[in-house]
Amino acid sequence: MKQFIASILSCALILTVRAENLKTADAFRDAATKANSILTLPDWDQTPEAVEASMKNAIATANAALDQIGAQDPSKVSFKSTIVALDDLGYQARLAANKATIIKETNTSAAMRTAAENAVKLFQDWAVGVDYREDVYKAVKAFGKTQPKLSGEEAKLLKETLRDYRRAGLDLSPEKRQEVEKLRKDLSKLGTDFDSNIVEVQAPVVFTKAELDGVPESFLASPGIKTGDDAYTVKANVTWQNIAIMENAKSEEIRRRLYVIHDSLAKDKNVPVLNQMLALRNKIALRLGYKSWADFQTEIKMAKSAAGAEKYINDLITGTKPKFDAEVAELRKLKISETKDPGAQIKLWDFRYYQNQLKKQKYAIDTEALRVYFPFQKTLDGMFNVYQSIFGLKFAKIAAPQKWIGDLQLYAVTDTATGEPLGMFYLDMFPREGKFNHFAEFEIIGGKLMPDGKYQRPTVALLCNFPPPSEGKPSLLTHSDVETLFHEFGHALHTIVTRAKYSRFSGTNVPGDFVEAPSQMLQNWIWDKKVLDTFAADYRDPAKKIPAETIDKLKEAKLATVGVYYRRQFAFASLDLALHAPHPEDQPYECVAISNPILEKVFLPIAPETTFVSYFGHLNGYDAGYYGYAWADAIAADMATVFESAKDGYLDKQAGLRLRHDIYEPGDSREITQSIEKFLGRKQSVQPFLKKIGIGGTTKEGSVPS
Ligand SMILES: [Zn+2]
Repeated sequence: MKQFIASILSCALILTVRAENLKTADAFRDAATKANSILTLPDWDQTPEAVEASMKNAIATANAALDQIGAQDPSKVSFKSTIVALDDLGYQARLAANKATIIKETNTSAAMRTAAENAVKLFQDWAVGVDYREDVYKAVKAFGKTQPKLSGEEAKLLKETLRDYRRAGLDLSPEKRQEVEKLRKDLSKLGTDFDSNIVEVQAPVVFTKAELDGVPESFLASPGIKTGDDAYTVKANVTWQNIAIMENAKSEEIRRRLYVIHDSLAKDKNVPVLNQMLALRNKIALRLGYKSWADFQTEIKMAKSAAGAEKYINDLITGTKPKFDAEVAELRKLKISETKDPGAQIKLWDFRYYQNQLKKQKYAIDTEALRVYFPFQKTLDGMFNVYQSIFGLKFAKIAAPQKWIGDLQLYAVTDTATGEPLGMFYLDMFPREGKFNHFAEFEIIGGKLMPDGKYQRPTVALLCNFPPPSEGKPSLLTHSDVETLFHEFGHALHTIVTRAKYSRFSGTNVPGDFVEAPSQMLQNWIWDKKVLDTFAADYRDPAKKIPAETIDKLKEAKLATVGVYYRRQFAFASLDLALHAPHPEDQPYECVAISNPILEKVFLPIAPETTFVSYFGHLNGYDAGYYGYAWADAIAADMATVFESAKDGYLDKQAGLRLRHDIYEPGDSREITQSIEKFLGRKQSVQPFLKKIGIGGTTKEGSVPS
């Protein structure tokens, strides 16, 4: 352990020498004090024992605060001593959990990661128990009964706190409540099993070289693929390997073989587990007085009800039909000419292959060649310039007093107009053994008005896995990497500039079917020549910008397959809602019989022996919520119109400031629909979304139900 700390320190030392001009967080603290706010960097635990102790202390402190709420004289309860006290203690406990999460996802020591993982589990178990503290609920209910005259954020906080208790079953008779609590615990265990079965399943499939005709040599030469003289092992459970075959293998029989294995992964284990999960969810919903789990889940989202979500998805399924049919017809033409079979149809195992053919033949796009325009640091600085300008912010690189990895970067964010410090962000951008393997923004310290009247400004981290620099060559990003960067950093800004008083509402703590919308909107930026020209240039010859024709071609190619992309999304959304629709309690579930026909009807013909849902991880966590991706996409397209019609387009400062003030700053402290419509200056519409995916000229005025 000492060694570990020493290596961290030495890295920090080297960096301090190189970056001796960097300011520290202290340099911003005076300005923060003037603005009556606080800037904080976590004190990162350095040993597994310290990680465990931090979490245990936090839980003990929170439990003491809960005891205090519960011990109050019910006739003397106040908003502050009940509702705010709950927000305060939950916030403090979450700080420890957030810190443990970062350690779990980033630490270079396996022992530290394990300790942090255990700490996070400890927190999760504790958090479920908080809902069932009857003494606390009594105090909260007693305050609710005083009919307090509250408005705005306070009224919303009271309403939603009471709603949480009702949703946990606290309004039910003691027997029923205990039943709900038990059902929830059983469900949580099954959910863990469902996830583990997905993570643990292995499906190596051996092919000969001839069978993999069409698959690029670079793939066949990748580590671990060639496993014998004429044997190539493809793991159906490893996404990039599976996709490489589905996009490139010329033989339909080979594609079908791999697809059937992939879409039947975890079949034996997860089909029964999912059936039980659906039954438990249905029971919980019914005990709580809902018609279905989908109704229960959507109540707290923008959709408000299962019917709202279903109608939205069904309208889009209908609306995209002509575009989808036309795209499939085009893919079918390619298949007919390749197979010489006039009756050939596009099946689920064909679409990736023929889409790839279409891209190559019709658009001649070489995505790899675009990397030269996106060297990592220049791209990052370029994105910073764009966001600083449109959102009225300033980012300053500062020295991190503690680093979990040598190339960690830390920045302070201030408001350009007033100099007020707004928060800080860490960047941990390259892959390494044991690190979180996707791209995400993590809140470490959320924004909140503290009991002493000072505002705690947020600190966040971006954990990404961009291609690392190699000897003599900088890290070069793909266009899609740049899109991810613009997206994830949008989440960081959403968290950092918050002005919500209570942690429940601050930053990205907004309804699940909205949270992705602002970041999805920002993805538009990197398809815009004007934005790209502010930073994208060939790293070998910076005078060279991306040609306009290349961007147009990229856009065309995207549009050419967007119908298929969305119909697949809608199929997932639709089968997810169907699985969680009203269901007689005494009838067992048959998840495959419910979902397979929908997949086939909304998307493409399937192989009947497959069980797509057994490997669809979103069914635990995004259950009855998958529709939210498309929902947020529609809002993103709608919000983008504000920039598109502004003087400077995506670089427009006024539109940027409005996004900051109307959407980011309030968070969930007021109804999100109100914020969206304030930003739009009109009611919401799905027309911009339909237009974006190439379905213009619809006469019916569509709208997102609110
Ligand atoms: Zn996101």
